[in-house]
Amino acid sequence: MSLAEIIPKKLQANIDNIIDNVVLSPWLTDAEKADYVLKIKALLKQKNAVIIAHYYVDDELQSLAEETGGYVSDSLDMANFGAQHSASTLIICGVRFMGETSKILSPEKTIIMPTLEAECSLDLGCPIDEFSAFCDQHPDREVVVYANTSVDVKARADWIVTSSNAVQIITHLMDEGKKIVWGPDRHLGQYIKNKTNADMIMWQGNCVVHDEFKLYELEQLMEKHPGAELLVHPESPEAIIAKADFVGSTKQIIAAGKKSKANTLIIATDHGLFYKMSQVVPDKMLIPAPTGGKSATCKSCAHCPWMAMNTLVNLYEALRDNTNTIEVDESVRQEALIPLNRMIDFSMQQGILTAGDA
Ligand code: SF4
Repeated sequence: MSLAEIIPKKLQANIDNIIDNVVLSPWLTDAEKADYVLKIKALLKQKNAVIIAHYYVDDELQSLAEETGGYVSDSLDMANFGAQHSASTLIICGVRFMGETSKILSPEKTIIMPTLEAECSLDLGCPIDEFSAFCDQHPDREVVVYANTSVDVKARADWIVTSSNAVQIITHLMDEGKKIVWGPDRHLGQYIKNKTNADMIMWQGNCVVHDEFKLYELEQLMEKHPGAELLVHPESPEAIIAKADFVGSTKQIIAAGKKSKANTLIIATDHGLFYKMSQVVPDKMLIPAPTGGKSATCKSCAHCPWMAMNTLVNLYEALRDNTNTIEVDESVRQEALIPLNRMIDFSMQQGILTAGDA
């Protein structure tokens, strides 16, 4: 069976799970939500646990993380915060690779996720056996992978990068005369290649959310708001990136929005980021970049279906029952830790990640 056949089947199976989950998710009244929040707060204390949420999960989980002394950030920062926090249990609201990254850095801690069904199209689209065979075809190249990958793919890599530090790390490798095998996100890979002119052979994965941004509709929106600045995540298609005033990770987009003098910001990333953006720049008008238009599909909502699987209910149940724990084979964890620490050390040296982030 070819790679092209395997990946859609895995994605479809996962999407079927999402549909089941959404259908079964109870709708909560405000009073019921408040009740869950109270129960979760009590359990956090009782179990010495802390909530660490990604910017893309629903507002109520981000707000609960903040209210209870937890943290909301991007994936690397989440794992770094968890490793430095005194809690013995980390509740990771996000997708599976984020729970795994936290386990790699904090093996002694219990890592719980509201649901283990929350995946990522980049991770699903980069199975270890196929990716490893791809790397084996290019033994003269450094293997550089995005953080949105399984622990097995991380263990196969020489370097791990995030969208905050990818350009700097690839530039560093170029300075050392290295050629690159890159995976899995083709848009981020192309963006890095355009910025650095690096010699990169690319795996062809994509994020189902960012891949949906549409150029024609974006141009029409920009015409309607001529003073607006466009902030874009580099998992977006090249044509969208080409229009951007700023390209960066979620955390960098927030910082760029804060610095911007424009009154209106058009933002091309998951709309979960709007919760934090509207706290940071409450006086600016925030407009989501368009995903619709004539070619709209059921994926065109700029919200990650897997991030949306995290809810107050499944967070409460997992914390109460100590279920949905992330377990990682120790020898694989040790292998994955090497490129992960390499990235963290590099990012600390470059001031991209500081101890104060955590
Ligand atoms: S938004 Fe895209 S990259 Fe992020 S978890 Fe969802 S599918 Fe993966």
